[in-house]
Amino acid sequence: MIDWSAIDTVLLDMDGTLLDLHFDNHFWQHHLPLRFAERHGLDPVASTQALHERFAREQHRLRWYCTDHWSAELGLDVIALKREVEHLIAERPWASAFLRALGAANRPRILITNAHRDSLGLKLRLTGIGAGLDRMISSHDYGAPKEAPAFWERLAQQVRFDPNRTLFIDDSEPVLQAARDYGIGHLLCIRQPDSKRPPREDLTFPALDCFSELLPVR
Ligand SMILES: [Mg+2]
Repeated sequence: MIDWSAIDTVLLDMDGTLLDLHFDNHFWQHHLPLRFAERHGLDPVASTQALHERFAREQHRLRWYCTDHWSAELGLDVIALKREVEHLIAERPWASAFLRALGAANRPRILITNAHRDSLGLKLRLTGIGAGLDRMISSHDYGAPKEAPAFWERLAQQVRFDPNRTLFIDDSEPVLQAARDYGIGHLLCIRQPDSKRPPREDLTFPALDCFSELLPVR
């Protein structure tokens, strides 16, 4: 699936790629709306619908990924609410084994995530992925999400990598498109980012079912 002799550096997304997106989907679609309705004395069905519409309008903008933004907007402590369902945070199959194999083959492993630093911290505390990463970058540090050209320009200023010899794995096709526009040479999507939802059939980028497909790393 990948010619490892053509790859020097691996960029990896977190939510939906190394980690199961079920936690995030459950949190944003069910848990947070429920707590929001309780807090403000609203009808849960109507307020959940209204919140989903509000989230959809903000999608792919940096503040959509910003827990501080939503804590202020919704009058809730978003990180405290995430901790209520933190037992759902889980690695996708073979994620740590793949990271270890990359390390053993001397390929720098760089996490690039749209997650806010506090969400990143929570997930690093509860999973083993941190031990398998050489560097972790949140797009909030750059003031631009991965969907924006500015993110890739900032990344290239801070991290040395040859775009032609870089593999980037992410479950978001708009993000992969931005990486392709920047010139990243090798791109892979994730077919089933949320283990509780069916695999996707309508992807335009080549997609992985499991990291084990990329082993061994030579
Ligand atoms: Mg993702």
